[in-house]
Amino acid sequence: MHESGIAYDIYATAKRAAEDNFATLVKAIHVDVGSMAMVNSDQVEFMFNTFIAEDPLFKDTKLIFNTVLPLAECSCGYKGSEIFVCPTCGKLPHMIQGKEILVKNIEIEAED
Ligand SMILES: [Zn+2]
Repeated sequence: MHESGIAYDIYATAKRAAEDNFATLVKAIHVDVGSMAMVNSDQVEFMFNTFIAEDPLFKDTKLIFNTVLPLAECSCGYKGSEIFVCPTCGKLPHMIQGKEILVKNIEIEAED
């Protein structure tokens, strides 16, 4: 399942960052989700909770989703929210933001 792989990536990314920073607890994970990513965030959260269930480093970790609106760029120089037709020249712009799922930031507790 799509959401399961995404949830695992979030878990693995956060775990690597937590270990790199000698964290004792991961309190929250902020995730940017593009509004065009076609992802069910409730399902991602559900799957994520099954991955962290056995991991004490992730006790009560909160997933915080931040929706990222689409942004496109065109060869004519246009940059904006029109992702299908460029309002300046009518060509297909290139989407530079809005499909991503990115771990943006994690909140941890660490030993001194
Ligand atoms: Zn254009």
